[in-house]
Amino acid sequence: MISIKGLRKKFGPLTVLDDIDLDIPSGQATGIVGPNGSGKTTAIKALLGLVKPNAGDILIDGESIKGQWDYRKKIGYMPQIARYPENMTVSELFEFIKNIRETGETNKDELISYFGLEPELEKRMRTLSGGNRQKVGAVLAMMFDPEILIFDEPTAGLDPHASVQFKNMVHREKEKGKTVLLTTHIMSEIEELADYLIFIVEGQIRYHGPMKELIEKQQEQRLEGAVAKMM
Ligand code: ATP
Repeated sequence: MISIKGLRKKFGPLTVLDDIDLDIPSGQATGIVGPNGSGKTTAIKALLGLVKPNAGDILIDGESIKGQWDYRKKIGYMPQIARYPENMTVSELFEFIKNIRETGETNKDELISYFGLEPELEKRMRTLSGGNRQKVGAVLAMMFDPEILIFDEPTAGLDPHASVQFKNMVHREKEKGKTVLLTTHIMSEIEELADYLIFIVEGQIRYHGPMKELIEKQQEQRLEGAVAKMM
């Protein structure tokens, strides 16, 4: 279980996360939605230790992440905008990351084949299309079979076929009992994938709970309408 306690983050005078208290359920997919600039990526980065909060804490399985790095091995992260060593080939990048982790065990070959990345393997990262970069990001996030998967706008830039592939992959990971955290502006994607919803506006949690409950509460057929009623 991921527990967020009194989390606050300010960038200069701007409060981006405003005393967030939240438990994110394990073994389910949680969708984080909210307008542009509402703090979704910052919350994810705080969880990854990439952003230092001004106050509060995050606990994973009851343990604070403060001053810790080892917990990161539990997490696979696919960022919204990824920076890679651009002169490396895709193969070299996978090898490089594997060596950093000092493990022989990965499921990268299965993932490469799943996403049809074989023709890209000898290409340099800087020459890849946006969609193929996303697929490389997905492989990197999942190659060590982490317990927690975090995807920030995962299907932005993917073609319809690759989006479906990605969504099927998320279903598969959920069936394996993984905890999935996902941000997207595509409500149908959240409806398809998420069991639990966090709705964040100006750094504050406006709703969190099972998705079905929100739709019922707002007496809407679709998530889009239910979310719009709360904005
Ligand atoms: P989007 O849906 O557009 O991706 P978001 O909900 O992920 O948005 P964040 O990226 O978390 O939003 O940004 C929240 C706010 O924090 C924005 O106003 C952004 O400009 C600001 N912000 C984010 N990172 C920094 C930074 N390093 N320095 C200053 N301000 C920042």
